[in-house]
Amino acid sequence: MKAVAVFPGPQEVKIVEQEFPRLTQPDQVLLRILDAGICGTDREICSFEYGTPPPGDDYLVIGHESLAEVVDVGTAVERLAPGDLVVPSVRRPCPHPCCLACRSGHQDYCYTGDFSERGIKEAHGYMAEYVVDHEQYMNVVPPHLRDIGVLAEPLTIAEKAVAQIFWMMQQRPPWIAPETPREERGQGLSALVLGIGPVGLLGAMVLVTAGFTTYVYSRELPPSPRIDLVEAIGAIYVSSQAATFGQLTEQIGNIDLIYEAVGHSHFALQALQVLGTNGIFVLTGVPGLQAFVEADPARLMREMVLKNQVLLGTVNAGPDAFASALRDLDRFRRRWPAVVSTLIGGRYPPEQAPDLILGRPAGIKSVIAF
Ligand SMILES: [Zn+2]
Ligand SMILES: [Zn+2]
Repeated sequence: MKAVAVFPGPQEVKIVEQEFPRLTQPDQVLLRILDAGICGTDREICSFEYGTPPPGDDYLVIGHESLAEVVDVGTAVERLAPGDLVVPSVRRPCPHPCCLACRSGHQDYCYTGDFSERGIKEAHGYMAEYVVDHEQYMNVVPPHLRDIGVLAEPLTIAEKAVAQIFWMMQQRPPWIAPETPREERGQGLSALVLGIGPVGLLGAMVLVTAGFTTYVYSRELPPSPRIDLVEAIGAIYVSSQAATFGQLTEQIGNIDLIYEAVGHSHFALQALQVLGTNGIFVLTGVPGLQAFVEADPARLMREMVLKNQVLLGTVNAGPDAFASALRDLDRFRRRWPAVVSTLIGGRYPPEQAPDLILGRPAGIKSVIAF
C-alpha cells in the first residue's frame, strides 16, 4: 500500500510501501482515502522545518487535509457504516489526566503540548491509500460534498475563529444578540483579511457570508485567478504593492476585524497598528524562523488599551468547527457555484506529491487523489 512519507534524517520525501492497515480495536474504522489536500504545512514539513515521525519510526506519512470513505468498522462503532464519507480531525489528545482541555474532548486547546497531530506530529497522516482511525475523530460528510469535502479541514481554521469572534461580539460592541442570523452578524462592520492563500480565501468567504464588508490585502498584483476569486465573492482586493497600510485605513475607515492568514510576523505587526477601535485581531499563520524586526511596543500597548482591542491566536479545530465547515461548503456552493468549482486546482496521483508539495503552488488547492 502506497503512502507519501518524509524522512527527516536523510531529508527525503518519497513514496513508501506500507503494510495494509488492519482494525485492532473495536472502536476503529478502516478508511480508504479519496482525497488529500496539500498545504503550506506540508511544504514546511517537507522542507524539514518541523514534522515529527511517530516514536520508533524514521519517517512520517504526511497529509492532514483529507476526505475518506469508510470501508470497514469495528464491533463497537455506532455512528458509521461502510460507504459513509468522513473528514477526520487532525489533533489527538495528550495522555495527562490534568489536561482539562484534552480530557473534555477539546484537544485543540491542549495545555501540555503533548498532543499528537496526524501527518504533522508523532502520528502518521492521511496521504496513504488506507488508514485506520478511531470513530470519535470522524466527521461525517454528506455524499453531495464528495467533490469539495477535502476543503473542510482548512476551512475549520476560519470557522473556529469566527465562532469565537461572534461570541466576543455578543459581549462587546456592537453587542450582537445571540439570535442574530449569521448573515447579519457582520453587517455594518469591516473585516481585513491578510493573505490570499487557501486559508485567507476560505476565511474571506466565511466573513462575506457573515455580512462583513471584506477586504483582502496581499502582495499579489492582477491579473491573478486568486484576485478574480476575491472579487467574485464580493470582497475587495487591495495589493500591498499598490497601497500602504495607512492608505488602506483611509479607504476602509475603522477596521473592526483583522484576519491574519500569512504567517509573516512583520506584516502582522504592521497590520496590528491599523486595527480599529474595539477591533479584534485574529492570528492563524504559524511563522517559521524570521528576521528580527524593530517594533514600538509602547505604542502598540497604548493603542490596545485605549482602543479595547483583542488579539486572538487560534489553531484548528474541534468537532463544532468541522460541522460548521461542512455546512458552509454547502452554503458557498449554493451562493458561488462557479467560484467553488475552481477552488480545487487539480487532482494528481500520489507519485506527483513530492514535486507538488515542494514546487510552486498551482491554483488554489492541489489535491492528491488515491
Ligand atoms: Zn493544512
Ligand atoms: Zn492535553
